[in-house]
Amino acid sequence: MGAASGGVVAIDVDHRDKLSNNLELPATVACTSSVESDGTWRGHLLYRASSPVATRRFAWGEVLGEGTLCILPPSIHPGGQRYSWVPGMGPDEVATAPAPSWVSAGEGTARVLDAEEPSDPPNPLEPPDPRTAGNYSERNIPPCYGSTLLHSLATNPEVALTIVRLCGGHVTGVGRGMRCVLPDHDDAHPSAALYQQSDGTIRYHDFHQADGVEWYSLGEVYAAYVTKHVRQLRSGERAIWHLRAATDAGLLRPPAIAAALLPDDAPKPARKLYAGFCRLLELRALYDGAQDSTPFSWRFAEAWCGIGSPPTVQKGMSWLLAHGYLERAAPQASEGAAGRRELTTFRLGHPT
Ligand SMILES: [Zn+2]
Repeated sequence: MGAASGGVVAIDVDHRDKLSNNLELPATVACTSSVESDGTWRGHLLYRASSPVATRRFAWGEVLGEGTLCILPPSIHPGGQRYSWVPGMGPDEVATAPAPSWVSAGEGTARVLDAEEPSDPPNPLEPPDPRTAGNYSERNIPPCYGSTLLHSLATNPEVALTIVRLCGGHVTGVGRGMRCVLPDHDDAHPSAALYQQSDGTIRYHDFHQADGVEWYSLGEVYAAYVTKHVRQLRSGERAIWHLRAATDAGLLRPPAIAAALLPDDAPKPARKLYAGFCRLLELRALYDGAQDSTPFSWRFAEAWCGIGSPPTVQKGMSWLLAHGYLERAAPQASEGAAGRRELTTFRLGHPT
């Protein structure tokens, strides 16, 4: 809506009874996902505005202006209903009317806001029911945020919104529809939303499930954005990608760690791995400053450091180990879905 659509704004009336009589809504083009047998409908009235209109919520509904998305016919609502033009109000039947003055006038809206009760934001996408929503149970992302910092990141709506925006998402709030930001999930209509779940964690819901997965952690969303590849991550990986997103977004500043500088003739894969490894240690120091070693599997390192293939990772690691920049540390036990595993860990070495 707004400038991106050539100045079209939508009025979404959820509660007609709460709409005060002095708010004029001229006849215009309108779309809906449901027309009841008695002729009532809920949907969007579309108007043309000559200047940018701010998005605002009211007790009766909302004005969808700059930065919002609006589902139009013939798209299908995530709930399954097809959007259609309201009979007699299609673009072939009526003209898109100019927005009434109160829509664009700041003064008038203040008065309207004062007169109205605050309301919960209406939801353009139906929130999924976690008990019945598709493969939620198979993909019930377990809490992986042991520390207070990780927990507060995972449950903070502003952090989640900032991360999604960093991934190019146009999102106006938790529970609000947006186009899916996952790579290769081309969609022209809102098909994703953030939801705060019962444990407080905010997760990304992908309605069209283009990768067969419905729920993602924000760490997975960010990893997919950086690596251009959608992947389901283990809990530790989700946490570290989440931290990386928060620091890339400028929400957190990790402590600097003391690492020896690589010589100028170090091979490129070694440089990339070393930079990625130091970054990983810095991020881990945010929630566990006492640990100086970390698991660094080749599969993880490949994605984390942006390295093309496992043999290249192997080459870079061999160089770093042989030259003393990294060294092996005590293996770490990890309890995962697949059972107990021993993880090889590494720490910074002392090159001579
Ligand atoms: Zn998607």
